[in-house]
Amino acid sequence: MENCLFCRIANGEIPSAKVYEDDAVLAFRDIAPAAPEHVLIIPKKHYDNVMQLDDDLLLARMFAAAREVAKQLGISESGFRLVINTGKDGGQTVEHLHMHMLGARELGWPPG
Ligand code: 5GP
Ligand code: ZN
Repeated sequence: MENCLFCRIANGEIPSAKVYEDDAVLAFRDIAPAAPEHVLIIPKKHYDNVMQLDDDLLLARMFAAAREVAKQLGISESGFRLVINTGKDGGQTVEHLHMHMLGARELGWPPG
């Protein structure tokens, strides 16, 4: 997906503030943080969103990465929120599957 923003971040064409990387998953800081800690966790392989995902083991890899990131950010005890926006009503703006990790402040619930 040569014109996909997150594919270009995953292949290093566009710089990002990386916090975690393995063979399948990359995590980097959101450019417009909605919380003191705001990291995006993406599969390196392109999927538009969870509806297109055909490999649920990849979600397990993303959750494993999320645990590592939470430890690294020091929010594994204080807590955090994981969010996967999907499609128009879900508020998805970048069409490459990604999970938001938000933390380091008390987050309100429910979201607006
Ligand atoms: P969505 O609304 O699709 O769930 O989330 C997309 C996220 O990507 C937004 O929180 C937005 O701030 C972030 N974002 C958009 N463009 C860039 C970029 O070029 N670099 C980084 N690091 N984050 C981006
Ligand atoms: Zn992509």
